[in-house]
Amino acid sequence: MAVEPRLAADDTGLLDALPIAAAIFTLNKGKLWIEAMNARFIDLAGCHGEPEVFADTFRHFASGEGGAFISAFLASPASARDEIEIADGDGVNRRFLKLKLSPLAASTSGVPRCLLSVVDRTIEVQAEHNLRAEMLRDSLTGLSNRLGFTEAIEQVRESGEGEHAVLVIDMLRFSRINESMGSMAGDELLITFARRLMLALRADDVLARTGGNEFGILVSLQGGVEDALAAAERIRQVVNAPFRLSDMEIRVECAVGVAVMQPDQDSEELFRNAQFAVKQAKLAGRPQVYEPTKATEARRRFSIETELRRALDRDELTLAYQPLINLKTAEVSGFEALARWNHEDRGEISPTEFIPVAEESGLILHLGRWVMDKAAATLAEWDRTAGEKLPLYVGVNLSAIQVARDNVAEVVESALKSSGLSGDRLTLELTESSIVQDPGRAQRVFDALKALGPTVAMDDFGTGYSSLAYLQRLPIDVLKIDKSFVADMMVDPDAVAIVRAILSLAEALGMSTTAEGIETVELATTLATLGCASGQGFYFAKPLEADAALEYWRSRRR
Ligand code: C2E
Ligand code: MG
Ligand code: MG
Repeated sequence: MAVEPRLAADDTGLLDALPIAAAIFTLNKGKLWIEAMNARFIDLAGCHGEPEVFADTFRHFASGEGGAFISAFLASPASARDEIEIADGDGVNRRFLKLKLSPLAASTSGVPRCLLSVVDRTIEVQAEHNLRAEMLRDSLTGLSNRLGFTEAIEQVRESGEGEHAVLVIDMLRFSRINESMGSMAGDELLITFARRLMLALRADDVLARTGGNEFGILVSLQGGVEDALAAAERIRQVVNAPFRLSDMEIRVECAVGVAVMQPDQDSEELFRNAQFAVKQAKLAGRPQVYEPTKATEARRRFSIETELRRALDRDELTLAYQPLINLKTAEVSGFEALARWNHEDRGEISPTEFIPVAEESGLILHLGRWVMDKAAATLAEWDRTAGEKLPLYVGVNLSAIQVARDNVAEVVESALKSSGLSGDRLTLELTESSIVQDPGRAQRVFDALKALGPTVAMDDFGTGYSSLAYLQRLPIDVLKIDKSFVADMMVDPDAVAIVRAILSLAEALGMSTTAEGIETVELATTLATLGCASGQGFYFAKPLEADAALEYWRSRRR
């Protein structure tokens, strides 16, 4: 559509009074005409004088988007749009103009007319652009930040070309460096680290700082996941050389997690997967590729934690009691209390699954107190039912986390107090792991527990790392031989040798012994012959509900 500019002297004066660039357009015989315009409009167009030059400069109003916009409005002002933004020119000359139309009365000859006002928004738009660029950039390193990185992933994803992976790199022990050397040194290290990472990039890779000490790299894969692992290896190499910080030379290590982009996967999920892999890499000590099954496990652990918290609050856990048999007399000498969780949807969840979760989350403190109270209360209840003080004890497991973080002596004391039991009716089962971490504390805790009167047993003995020196020094009464050795005794002479060794060690230290996991009569008699004092296992009975346990004791006595 050609424009035929025509200056109408009488209207120009009126338009000149307006504070913005404005022009009157008409549509006549299918052509757009400029009937009048003000000085600001001429300025904005950058043309003065000759109508031909003028027409040329206004191409963007007359043809293309602007022209179509004005024509449509003139053809039907009621239904057409009256405001658009257009970009004009390119490079440094690029302008952003906002066009607004207002209807005017038709001319005497009936030709439709409208008023176009133009606002130059170039400066604002550029400021927005800059602000946006700023928002996507990390000011310390000048790299993209998390937001910018996500956008870069999104772009690659939308292009749909080739295979890609995201690497997340976590600089290890950064907070310690930051604390000990100051945040200036920390900043310097981050900048240097970022520069090193750049050395590991290939042409199209995108590096970003996605968190405090976390970096992300988007790589394209030609040879599958191997490519990403090769990138991880390049990273290891560039990071390997010492870093110079002020006058110091320090070594920096990093963990690398890899996630390969899947179709229909949004950038957030991809990034989170790589972050998950980096957590695994920290544990494994080498780069890890994201695997959904591991994440499923982690999610299950997490939901177990949430649900265990609720189960504890709602008192949904129970205790099962497994008899301990005196191998000489075949009498029941006591019961070990074992936590049970029957989940309404998932069914029975094994303590080998939920106890570690409880330990990791700290819930074990709550759970441990509950078990102690409940077990003591049950034994007291049995006494009341029988009308006598039964010749039985109850064994309660204490986690290493409880020993390290709770006041377990107080926990035991309070259970004894509220149940009315004497201390000697309890056996506390502790593990070697509760000694290893802080032997000094373990000594104090064991002594305090012992002072309350219970028997102290070392559970799962032989699977941990306790030193013989501590075994001798701590007030331990019983070694419980781990069921893994017991189970192997019939097939593996080495297992027999280990059991013998534990039995003679116990004898030398003046301790008694209990064998766990006795599943057959052969094991029961063999262990009795070898001199093991007490035994526990499916051969005698599985862990039982409280009533059934008391009944079991009665039936064995008869
Ligand atoms: P543990 O303290 O060594 O308990 C003995 C485990 O061996 C129990 O498993 C018991 O059911 C199982 N067992 C007993 N006899 C046999 C047998 O003949 N064959 C086999 N294969 N297994 C036998 P459970 O109840 O699954 O508990 C597993 C572990 O969970 C316990 O090992 C203990 O470490 C922990 N645990 C259970 N309840 C508690 C608790 O209340 N507090 C703490 N801290 N840990 C608990
Ligand atoms: Mg135990
Ligand atoms: Mg055990």
